Amino acid sequence: MSSPRLSDLPVILWLRQDLRLADNPALAAAVATGRPVIPLFILHQASDGRDWGAASLWWLDKSLRSLDADLRSRGSRLILRRGDPAMILPALAQELRAQLFWNRLYGQSAVGRDSDLKAEFGAISCNGSLLVEPWAVKTGTGGTYQMFTPFWKAAQGVIEDTVVHRAPEQIPAPDQWPDSDPIDDWTLQPSKPDWSKDFEGTPGEAGAHAALTQFIRAHLDDYPRGRDRPDIAGTSRLSAHLHWGEIGPRQIRAAIEKAGGPAAAKFMAELGWREFNHHLLYQHGALYERNIRRDFDRFQWRHDPEGLQAWKEGRTGYPMVDAGMRQLWTTGFMHNRVRMVVASFLIKHLLIDWREGEAWFWDTLVDADEANNPANWQWSSGSGADAAPFFRIFNPVAQGERFDPHGEYVRRWIPELAHLPAKTIHQPGQGVEGYPGPIVDHAMARQRALAAFKAMRAD
Ligand SMILES: Cc1cc2nc3c(=O)[nH]c(=O)nc-3n(C[C@H](O)[C@H](O)[C@H](O)COP(=O)(O)OP(=O)(O)OC[C@H]3O[C@@H](n4cnc5c(N)ncnc54)[C@H](O)[C@@H]3O)c2cc1C
Repeated sequence: MSSPRLSDLPVILWLRQDLRLADNPALAAAVATGRPVIPLFILHQASDGRDWGAASLWWLDKSLRSLDADLRSRGSRLILRRGDPAMILPALAQELRAQLFWNRLYGQSAVGRDSDLKAEFGAISCNGSLLVEPWAVKTGTGGTYQMFTPFWKAAQGVIEDTVVHRAPEQIPAPDQWPDSDPIDDWTLQPSKPDWSKDFEGTPGEAGAHAALTQFIRAHLDDYPRGRDRPDIAGTSRLSAHLHWGEIGPRQIRAAIEKAGGPAAAKFMAELGWREFNHHLLYQHGALYERNIRRDFDRFQWRHDPEGLQAWKEGRTGYPMVDAGMRQLWTTGFMHNRVRMVVASFLIKHLLIDWREGEAWFWDTLVDADEANNPANWQWSSGSGADAAPFFRIFNPVAQGERFDPHGEYVRRWIPELAHLPAKTIHQPGQGVEGYPGPIVDHAMARQRALAAFKAMRAD
């Protein structure tokens, strides 16, 4: 029997957080070989070595189904496997005599594993997730930026001009496909109970582009003001799409540049925070475990399981906090302004370790991200790079009055309070039946938090 020609040997396109066909550099490189391409997704852990949260898996399930349909429309399909990629990939690559292609990830456990695989198989890796990769932005002395503003200024200087590639029209298929798990066997959707019935968003590449188009059409111009208002739809809702790579930041940048206008820079700066957080992830490793500022290791957090549970369930008695936590539980999403309010409340009013809140978000957010989630929690606690100072303690009532001025956001998520007028709806302790009084007094909590911070610094 003659051995197969090199051009007949397949390449494996290992898809991870780049679940799209357009502007996917690893896919483009794989197709450019002219060899059969085997798109493969392996269900394992996030790039920081953590198991995925339940809401993430809800999104992933739909995203993979959508990707498979898109691949099939181009003569290809998605192969699914579950387990440790460090075991699965070498075996498959050897069996098929295939070369490996992927887009890079930045969590340390993935970086280590991928480097080993690359050394063994001479894999081709590309940048499919960031405008600028961590090693490409350096300070004048060759160090890494710890502050966002100089980082973003420097980053913008090195971001290359955006040439966005279309999806390939056809993807060459092998004569024979390797085995694939049926996606239904993975049971990524909740049942008994199905807590996802009111989850929001349309996972998949088409959903990502629809969200971007709608945002540019209806909300971009007002973004600098609208982005802070949880009572209106003023933001892009691109976070989960970006997290799974159903759309890439280069595509978004190209569309925003084309749209132009005074709000474009503000929106790009938010994508800049995403870049910054990935740089922190790459530098600091498991952001969800360790304070970036190590003096916070001495912080005396309170052990308060009841307080934590009340926070998770939206029963703190502070309407803005509870509305946010209920939005999260019901839809898998929470508005950014409210994320900041609920994080500050857990950390400063309840003095509960930010890692508890991060873990809850990790499990319940559809956009839970190994860079953005812990970096934002560390920003809120003061333990992060370029973080809000600990002594800046949000007043949840004042935040509500300012950013939900008509009380519509609270009314939507806390029907018990819907009858209250805008003037008082954000006040705790109104004796409304079915809604709890405040679990902690604001003035006392503020003093207690400041004292705890002082004690940490004095140690
Ligand atoms: C405590 C806390 C936890 C958070 N956890 C996550 C998370 O797990 N995953 C996540 O993607 N974002 C997280 N964020 C950031 C932010 O809240 C969300 O990205 C945003 O609300 C998503 O909505 P959007 O896509 O409509 O945002 P838009 O306002 O339309 O912003 C566009 C994009 O910019 C990026 N972005 C915006 N704000 C931030 C930010 N502060 N940090 C990093 N990137 C940002 C996101 O990719 C977002 O999709 C968190 C914020 C806080 C305060």
